[in-house]
Amino acid sequence: MKNWIFSILIIICLGLITISFTYRPEFNQGAGKINTIIIDAGHGFKGSLTARDGAMGFEGTEDEISYEVSKKVVAEIEKQMPGVKVLESRPTPYFVTLKQRSDFANSNKGNLFVSIHCNYAPKIREVVKEGTRQETYYVKSGKKGKKVKKTRQVPNYKTYSQSNPAHGTETYVFAAHKTEDKEDIIMENGDIFQNEKDDETLNVNINDPVVKQQVALWTKQFFAGSVKLASLVEEEFVKIGRASRGVKQRQKGIWVLQATAMPSILIELGFLSHREEEAFLMSQEGQQMMAESIAGAIKKYKDIVEKNNHTTSVSAKQ
Ligand SMILES: [Zn+2]
Repeated sequence: MKNWIFSILIIICLGLITISFTYRPEFNQGAGKINTIIIDAGHGFKGSLTARDGAMGFEGTEDEISYEVSKKVVAEIEKQMPGVKVLESRPTPYFVTLKQRSDFANSNKGNLFVSIHCNYAPKIREVVKEGTRQETYYVKSGKKGKKVKKTRQVPNYKTYSQSNPAHGTETYVFAAHKTEDKEDIIMENGDIFQNEKDDETLNVNINDPVVKQQVALWTKQFFAGSVKLASLVEEEFVKIGRASRGVKQRQKGIWVLQATAMPSILIELGFLSHREEEAFLMSQEGQQMMAESIAGAIKKYKDIVEKNNHTTSVSAKQ
């Protein structure tokens, strides 16, 4: 009798295993749809003027400008792309940790992550020789080694510091050589593996070579998507007359870019160490122009992705 029950259990188990193998895990991020966009205003206010996070310009601060532009980007997306959910990982002027930002993006299943920042370049210090000055020194003379006072002319050095001329926009994508970081995050957010039929989340064995292969493929697609979006953003900036320093990767990697399971970019709006750029970025008009450019680039990216729906959607091999 016991053996009989045991056999039934074995049959049920085998049946379940077979059923689970018939699932076709499908990537819910998309099948090429941009439904949820996360806008991340960099840094934040920590309570007092000296407790600000981010760069300090001549008059403006990075956290304030990033916040103002982010709010305008959100409004533009809502205007240009009605029906798309746009969420803010820093909705108030106050500081939010990097972990909170990436957790927010992942738990809300964003299809795009756009972080907004400002750049800063340190002053250039230059040491210049300016005339000479008289210096007193002593020499020993005679058998007793008596000290004798003497004078000589030595060059005079002055240190000057001047504003760094660096200016223009930059957009960062995640560091390709740190691909494993992105893969780990995609794995950790295992609920992106879904049953195509009923949205039921599968338990995915992350050691399964098929899953590993799939994750590697998504990571590649996220990278390609990030580069595409970053290029579109820089193109829009050029159209409004901004100097573009191009699409870049940082050797060290940028946490929010590595830790978000979706295509992600980080925009540097300009240099707060450059007076003209800072004034532009602090003006309502400048902020609005930047916001329209960013939203316009996102709209173009969305159109491209959704047009190529059939080619961008991926399903895992059995
Ligand atoms: Zn920053």
